[in-house]
Amino acid sequence: MYNLPTDFNVLTSNGGEGDVIITLSNLRDSDGYTGYTKSVVEGNEILKSFITIYDVNNLSDEELGTILRHEFGHALGLGHSTAPEDLMAPNIDMTVPYISECNVDAIIELYNGIQGSTVCEK
Ligand SMILES: [Zn+2]
Repeated sequence: MYNLPTDFNVLTSNGGEGDVIITLSNLRDSDGYTGYTKSVVEGNEILKSFITIYDVNNLSDEELGTILRHEFGHALGLGHSTAPEDLMAPNIDMTVPYISECNVDAIIELYNGIQGSTVCEK
């Protein structure tokens, strides 16, 4: 139903152009979140997503990458996984830093318009 975005162009700017805006912040979130994604949605379509990663000065490259992959999942439409040992678990587990097959399946189903498939279960 929708084209699954696969061809990403990464650019650095202060202007906020693009469909997925990633802001790296040195601020700490008051609720202790490592990252946050807000999407502008019209009907079933995500028009634009804003990702904020907090406290980046205290993150290793690996941690930053893991959090970004998780938040990027949200930016594309994935919800939280019910499995704790998954990239899309509500509390990000740094020992499972990679996109799982389950995440890939969920996103393919989501873009094929299959209802209720935004969550990766195990
Ligand atoms: Zn999340």
